[in-house]
Amino acid sequence: MNRAQLQGIGMTSPRTRDRLINRLKEQGIENEAVLEAIRATPRHIFVDEALAHRAYEDSALPIGFNQTISQPYIVARMTELLLAGGPMKRVLEVGTGSGFQTAVLAQLVEQLYSVERILPLQEKARERLHLLELNNVTCMHTDGGMGWSAKAPFDGILSAAAPEEVPPELLSQLAIGGRMVIPVGGRSGQQLRLIRRISETGYDTQVIEAVYFVPLLSGTVS
Ligand code: SAH
Repeated sequence: MNRAQLQGIGMTSPRTRDRLINRLKEQGIENEAVLEAIRATPRHIFVDEALAHRAYEDSALPIGFNQTISQPYIVARMTELLLAGGPMKRVLEVGTGSGFQTAVLAQLVEQLYSVERILPLQEKARERLHLLELNNVTCMHTDGGMGWSAKAPFDGILSAAAPEEVPPELLSQLAIGGRMVIPVGGRSGQQLRLIRRISETGYDTQVIEAVYFVPLLSGTVS
């Protein structure tokens, strides 16, 4: 991919991206650093070429394997919630998918650990992160429901897939004072939660809004 393709033309141009940023502001996203990171991230390289012209619409799009690239609004909202307590050093992302949310987060935290259960998705995401020279991301092909104990504790955990209940492993890998943003629930409905670890055993949970995410599944796919 050359510089022009990265920068984008026509429906992927900087102007089109600015429109998306304005839309996110209208929807209540206020954190300037988050908005800037989204503006700086070429979402069109995170989808198939055939969908590139729709990359700056505020919608989820298919990325194969029955998965989707998250809607920009939800990426912005989750990132804003995660960072609202101040800067973060170590963050775990569950569900790399296309790598779009990963790329946005990588610009805003010191070290990002991202796990994905579907190997071909992870491999593509890795290539994109490499192309964008985001070298503070470590990826692993694994079932993220177990977290990543070797790298814990995390100041932040962000999940892009919804479990029926928050996995205890994720709760225990959160540092005291840390924040987790995670969709929770099944077919009857999901809610986005912000969970803060207050002490060794104390967690505070805030329900943010109704959301629709792909389910957190167990096991891996090669
Ligand atoms: N933020 C991503 C969203 C991808 S969709 C993006 O913008 O592209 C959610 C991803 O979570 C999917 O790729 C799915 O395979 C992955 N996933 C689901 N359950 C998982 C698990 N237990 N461990 C790791 N990844 C998981």
